[in-house]
Amino acid sequence: MALKISIVQVTPFQQNCALIWNGETGKGAVIDPGGDVEKIQAAITTAGMKVETIFLTHGHLDHAGGASELAKALGVPIIGPDIADKPLLDSLPEQAIRFGVPDMQAVTPDQWLTEGETIDIGGLPFEVLHCPGHTPGHVVFINRDGNFGIFGDVLFQNSVGRTDFPYGDHDALITAIKEKLLPLPDDFLFICGHGTHSTIGEERKNNPFIQ
Ligand SMILES: [Zn+2]
Repeated sequence: MALKISIVQVTPFQQNCALIWNGETGKGAVIDPGGDVEKIQAAITTAGMKVETIFLTHGHLDHAGGASELAKALGVPIIGPDIADKPLLDSLPEQAIRFGVPDMQAVTPDQWLTEGETIDIGGLPFEVLHCPGHTPGHVVFINRDGNFGIFGDVLFQNSVGRTDFPYGDHDALITAIKEKLLPLPDDFLFICGHGTHSTIGEERKNNPFIQ
């Protein structure tokens, strides 16, 4: 695949903010800038990339808390997640106080995303899948030709997203994973919001939550 990826761990929750860009044009996107905006900006400079868009998978503070500040600094739009996460994005400052993380601004996306839409990252198409459960408006981004996806907090190596937060729904999460993600090919590689990347084949075989 023509895309390059750099992961920046942000916030005390060690969230994987992803920089994804086209190696030829340098153009790309930042996914889930949850905080530590200066660290993300330094990584953008190191990568030598040109950020066109900020995409959000969902409205939790460790994924969205730095989006407004970064969007302002770069002059780029914030796109996603599904509008069902609006209450979470509106309440980011309160979430930040509850979790003891300073300086998080509410986010008003320039555009919401819906199931089946296609977004552009570095010149390649990524399909939007709505995978509710961890949050009601959680979306994931998949590039079918490249067998590559960005899954946020839906599916992890040997685990799944937590559903004990407000708006969580475990049954909805497992249904979304089984109906929308597990049909992807064995060698489909995905990066997630926390921890290491994995493949659909590994999770289908080993993940105890989806057997
Ligand atoms: Zn989350």
